[in-house]
Amino acid sequence: MEIIKTIEQLQEIRKTISSSVGFVPTMGALHNGHISLIKKAREENDIVIVSIFVNPTQFLPGEDLDAYPRKDEADKKICQMCKVDYLFMPDVTTMYTKEEILIKAPNKSYILEGKARPGHFDGVLQVVLKLFNLTQPTNAYFGKKDAQQLSLIQQMVKNLFLPINIVPCDIVRESDGLALSSRNVYLSETQRKDALLISKSLYLATSLIAKKEYSVEAVKKRILDTMSNLDVEYIAIVDREFNELEIVEPKNTIILVVVRFGNTRLLDNIWI
Ligand code: AMP
Repeated sequence: MEIIKTIEQLQEIRKTISSSVGFVPTMGALHNGHISLIKKAREENDIVIVSIFVNPTQFLPGEDLDAYPRKDEADKKICQMCKVDYLFMPDVTTMYTKEEILIKAPNKSYILEGKARPGHFDGVLQVVLKLFNLTQPTNAYFGKKDAQQLSLIQQMVKNLFLPINIVPCDIVRESDGLALSSRNVYLSETQRKDALLISKSLYLATSLIAKKEYSVEAVKKRILDTMSNLDVEYIAIVDREFNELEIVEPKNTIILVVVRFGNTRLLDNIWI
């Protein structure tokens, strides 16, 4: 595996690759969720490029940019073990100049995650577009865990005519159901236990829907009842395009929840 730090190096290498490239963008502190994306990329492409970059433009003032877990050495080992060909780890000054061309995410970026974090998705799309331009992937791998991000990236690829296949990847969970996240390290022991109610509530909602209860109100109530002791920021039931639903549409529905534990926001969702 080769570690790349500069744009010039990456561009030189990219020129020499004529076979398929699988790309996995991450912010590091790699866990089994990231690893599942990398493994899929490894299976489906000749060359695999992973990036690790904690992108400042997607953090709002006061968010955890400085505290965001950084585990460069462990991450390098994981990428090596997963047989990554190139690991791109740029500095902030490598990725950004003082004044930048900006990307404006569409209106649906200002609901749900974008309501809590206005402007967040502008930063996400900006960095992902830069990384796409550098790596020119055949396939790029994104987790369903960040469902709204995935949907906006799919829209960017479509709107900007980028010749890239976006591959959505299933959520990887701990054996007890908690969705893996780099931010789980912020949880205390009690919070970690309480957090189990998040996936539990989603599973209960799914079994309710399996019994043909399609009323969004009823499904939301079941989720809220299960998480009644938690600080629930939102529960949303949307179609795959992120339009709010009143009636659950099997095979076209995503149920999303966000729960706060102090300053930590945990996201989870389930695709129906
Ligand atoms: P991040 O490092 O948080 O920016 O995540 C990098 C990629 O890994 C994104 O596409 C995420 O959606 C994906 N990801 C994060 N956690 C999980 C998980 N538990 N299961 C599957 N994919 C995940």
